[in-house]
Amino acid sequence: MFTVTDLKQLAYCARLVYYGYCWPGVHLMPTAKMASGRIANVSAEIMEHRRSLRAYGLRQGEREFDVWLESESLNLCGRLDMLIVAPSAEGVELIPVDYKDSLTHERTARRIIPTLWHNWSVQLAAYAILVEQQRSHPVRRGFIYYIPQKRAREVMIDERLRAEVQDGLRAIESMVATEQYPPPTPYRRRCAACEYRRLCNDI
Ligand code: SF4
Repeated sequence: MFTVTDLKQLAYCARLVYYGYCWPGVHLMPTAKMASGRIANVSAEIMEHRRSLRAYGLRQGEREFDVWLESESLNLCGRLDMLIVAPSAEGVELIPVDYKDSLTHERTARRIIPTLWHNWSVQLAAYAILVEQQRSHPVRRGFIYYIPQKRAREVMIDERLRAEVQDGLRAIESMVATEQYPPPTPYRRRCAACEYRRLCNDI
């Protein structure tokens, strides 16, 4: 079964997924950055219990943490950091939240906000689709929660993101079945900090 993380990586660089599935013996060890992210995740989870839902613009809602999601029909699974079940005019609203341990910012005309990378939105959309299947309830939006800044950014789960999840799953299935080596990411700045760089001899 493929994972939501595979979809996030595919949207970053298809070769990350290829190496993981098609090159036996290649195993990506967690880097110090990834490990510290996990530690931060745990402490954020504990803090989140005590914090209000203000970061999400909500007054009420139940929070579920570390929610395991799985779909046989999609051949996809993943563990969601937090699911908010909030009262709404339709009864309840289900809102997936993914934590990120990121300090990157971007400047808008009026303020500085944490950066929302596109592959994080794809990841969140994949969680949203899994929540919909598992709870038989539509998901309209989700949030990326930035642990260091204690801020959240809303992501609308629109048709474009949903299509990207479906297309991504088909692309991964085909890549793994045919073992066809994908081209490198066109965004070559990403390669500088990539753990697989030594395997990419054409960049
Ligand atoms: S080095 Fe660049 S092309 Fe190779 S896997 Fe990493 S991001 Fe992709």
